[in-house]
Amino acid sequence: MNELEEVARQFEADLLEFGAARAEELRIKYLSKKGIISKLIEKIPTLPPDQRRDFGKRLNELKSRIEASIKQLAEAQSDRVSFEVKLLDNDLTLEGKRPPVGNKHVLFKARDELFEIFKHMGFSFFDGPELETDFYNFEALNFPPYHPARDMQDTLMVGDMVLRTHSSAMQVRALQALGVPLKAILPGRVYRREEVSARKYPVFYQFDALVVGEGIGVGHLKWTLETFLSAFFKKKVEVRFRPSYFPFVEPGNEVDVRCVFCGGKGCNVCGGTGWLEILGAGLVHPKVLEYGGVDPKRFSGFAFGVGVDRMTMLKYGINDIRLLYEGDVRFLSSL
Ligand SMILES: [Zn+2]
Repeated sequence: MNELEEVARQFEADLLEFGAARAEELRIKYLSKKGIISKLIEKIPTLPPDQRRDFGKRLNELKSRIEASIKQLAEAQSDRVSFEVKLLDNDLTLEGKRPPVGNKHVLFKARDELFEIFKHMGFSFFDGPELETDFYNFEALNFPPYHPARDMQDTLMVGDMVLRTHSSAMQVRALQALGVPLKAILPGRVYRREEVSARKYPVFYQFDALVVGEGIGVGHLKWTLETFLSAFFKKKVEVRFRPSYFPFVEPGNEVDVRCVFCGGKGCNVCGGTGWLEILGAGLVHPKVLEYGGVDPKRFSGFAFGVGVDRMTMLKYGINDIRLLYEGDVRFLSSL
């Protein structure tokens, strides 16, 4: 009896030592014709007759247990082999497949760069509705009803509301909500009724910069423009003012920058003029201050409106505004 227990213990130890990789060796050691179990069976006739039956029964049980264990081990081994074969089918030395990962849209990349500059300059940010009343979009900006200036902008109407045609629609809202002194960026989407072309799109991004306080004048405006444009284009930028007309500023100016691509010599981007038309600006009209609840005798201010699309296209060398809105991944992932 002790001999069978001894074999059982030995088998448990071998099972651990041989492991799945050597299941066949284990089978040969215990279950082959010359294996340990066969030798024990051969021993039966040599035992005293009264012990043979019991020994045979216990030996059988041990044999079954060993067979089952080795079978299990062999199966584990064949699973492992087929798994390894599967791994070999895929060449593990090849580079993995990288799933496509998105990136920030170039328009918002440029917008965030612009906003970062104004944050550093101490501006706060003010938001307003895209669907605007006639009052804030026109009247409060000194476009009285039937004023011919309203023809300057083709407007999309929703009932008696307008899809705001410019971010300046937030100027009086900001004055009313925040009071003075005020130094704010008014950003957002604006809408015009335009034919789609390489230069025009019916929706685009703008922001107004609005600064109102005591003694604010053209010098502050010019310094602010030069500072933010130089930071955005990462080079010292020269600006020039050309007199222009917007009802909500007096005086009003178109602002050009010395072409940041050719340095003023003339190139394709500036159309050979050496200057880039970049934005409109001016000193806030006293009427607008009044609508905002601000005393124009005591306070003055400047405002300018920036096309985020225009700035993005200039900085990243994009020549067709449609690329910014039509979601072509080949274009978007290249920037
Ligand atoms: Zn140029």
